[in-house]
Amino acid sequence: MFATLSDRLADTFKNLRGKGRLSEADIDATAREIRIALLEADVALPVVKEFVAAVKERARGEEVSGALNPAQQVVKIVNDELVTILGGETRRLRYAKTGPTVIMLAGLQGAGKTTLAAKLALWLKEQGKSPLLVACDLQRPNAVNQLQVNGERVGVPVFAPEPGNAGGIEHGGDPVQVARASVEEAKRTLHDVVIVDTAGRLGVDAELMQQASDIRDAVQPDEVLFVVDAMIGQDAVSTAQAFLDGVGYDGVVLTKLDGDARGGAALSIASITGKPVMFASNGEKMGDFDLFHPDRMASRILD
Ligand code: GDP
Repeated sequence: MFATLSDRLADTFKNLRGKGRLSEADIDATAREIRIALLEADVALPVVKEFVAAVKERARGEEVSGALNPAQQVVKIVNDELVTILGGETRRLRYAKTGPTVIMLAGLQGAGKTTLAAKLALWLKEQGKSPLLVACDLQRPNAVNQLQVNGERVGVPVFAPEPGNAGGIEHGGDPVQVARASVEEAKRTLHDVVIVDTAGRLGVDAELMQQASDIRDAVQPDEVLFVVDAMIGQDAVSTAQAFLDGVGYDGVVLTKLDGDARGGAALSIASITGKPVMFASNGEKMGDFDLFHPDRMASRILD
């Protein structure tokens, strides 16, 4: 395993202990360590460069305060800067003022959307909401069934294209029709949040983007959430950008944070897209899900 950023900085600062102020050479040595640590954590290069420049700028301007030694001071600057880029405060869901709130999930196949849909439904239920899950992933043969199984696990009904439902298999399983009909169904059955699971492909493709855009136009979601596997590292940036350009979204959900990914994807995506990471999924159990906390992720990247 790589040395943590805190370890690296501690090493760099071994020789500096007792000094009252950071010299330009100290700042350069520190910047080098931060750069290596972030690259090892799979943060995208342009993000690393921008980040290091911002930290250097702040370190230069800062008087070393009485309470902290120089090493602690730099760690604090790095931490503050990480939290800022990661969005500062946790961004909460926006609920519709009238009618059901529509949340649409988009992302690559395997990102964890279908699992996430059910986790989000459970979390909303615990917040006192009455969610309805909607199966609009009609590409992957087992996706509807998987959502139904997960829906059952969390005790949330699933609206799916069955004979009799709009968009049903007798209509060829049109996901746009299913999405539109699901909002009507939610109104009729008094569900206040609709969670639309959409199809993903293994790679970004035009047809996938078009379908997701058509669903978005049809149901005008209150939140479009881009779901991304934190383990895909550098690739997260190009995928996040492609979905931003192709579909657009309001926030990001990072999945598989229980793996050993150090959080590089979180930093890269937040920095490059400017969209907040809102939720974190960290396991295969339905309860392995929470709001994303920028300060906790900053500690994870540092430690
Ligand atoms: P989708 O294709 O985007 O709908 O992805 P799925 O929801 O089917 O998830 C793909 C795989 O990742 C499944 O085997 C899930 O059990 C697994 N998975 C989803 N979320 C997590 C997570 O947070 N942690 C771990 N370890 N596995 C996850």
